[in-house]
Amino acid sequence: MVVIMKQNFTREQMEAAVRFMEAGGVRVMVSKGSETTILGAEGNAAGIDREKLEQLPGVERVMAVSEPYKKANRKYHPDDTVIALPNGKSIGGKELCVIAGPCSVETEAQINAVAERVKRAGAAALRGGAFKPRTSPYSFQGLEDEGLRLLRGAGDHTGLPVVTEIMDVEHIDLFQRCVDVIQVGARNMQNFNLLKQLGRHTDKPILLKRGMSATIEEWLMSAEYIMASGNPNVILCERGIRTFETFTRNTLDLSAVLAVKQQSHLPVVVDPSHACGKAWMVERMSMAAVAAGADGLIIEVHNDPQHAWCDGAQSITPDQFDALMPKLKTMAECVGRTLEV
Ligand code: PEP
Ligand code: MN
Repeated sequence: MVVIMKQNFTREQMEAAVRFMEAGGVRVMVSKGSETTILGAEGNAAGIDREKLEQLPGVERVMAVSEPYKKANRKYHPDDTVIALPNGKSIGGKELCVIAGPCSVETEAQINAVAERVKRAGAAALRGGAFKPRTSPYSFQGLEDEGLRLLRGAGDHTGLPVVTEIMDVEHIDLFQRCVDVIQVGARNMQNFNLLKQLGRHTDKPILLKRGMSATIEEWLMSAEYIMASGNPNVILCERGIRTFETFTRNTLDLSAVLAVKQQSHLPVVVDPSHACGKAWMVERMSMAAVAAGADGLIIEVHNDPQHAWCDGAQSITPDQFDALMPKLKTMAECVGRTLEV
């Protein structure tokens, strides 16, 4: 249940409405938006007399909320959430946020070379996996701690915030110290303990990828786990879902971007690289994602894709990234957004 306050309500009126709701057995989340102030009920609202609540002075209207996610729900928070990055960039505002970098950190020379190139082209943040979730235990598993150290070094050297995936709750302290945006991969979207611990122990932005067979509601419920545990800074990432199609690695669900932007106030980025699995598709799918209203992109860029230790087939080169950015700027302007390149 949410209560929408009248334009000119007084503080006393709002406090009275909050007390009335609390007496009905819920906790109340106050969201002061640019146009309206909303009181969102958390918990079972069955004990609240809706008609009486609607009669209270200062109350405009009471709305039932059927969705199981509350903190992630736009009805509880009508304004878009904008998440700040440490370099002054942000995600969820008017400017598009492009995150780029290799699938995995391989060597110091590799991560530094890619970081410099994507920074020069206008990327807002650097990606690079250090702990990799691989289907086969015989595949490269990431440089782990050393990978994090090299990624941090490349980030510091270029001034780019770094984004990397966490797989284990034991690493939260380490990530808290040296990562700017913590990625939860598709395979861990429903690792509920990891989500809860990330909510409790950090307020760093969490880039939450959609599970490969997760519905939009399941994905938003995973965001809710992090938020309900104390961290409101969640960025959603559509990275393709598994369908019957085998031509592409996954099927990029761009309609999910619209759905999630409608249902939630959280920022949404699109990962065209893991969605398609083919480097030649990345440019057009990135442009399509911007047209669909994505707040940003996360794109795999490698300086030598043919010899990449992981995901070379879907990685674009720095030159291709240079060519892509001005096209994204043009697309951004078509949909009322900006991109500095
Ligand atoms: C990745 O970003 O490197 C990755 C493994 O992505 P996903 O979890 O979407 O498969
Ligand atoms: Mn990858």
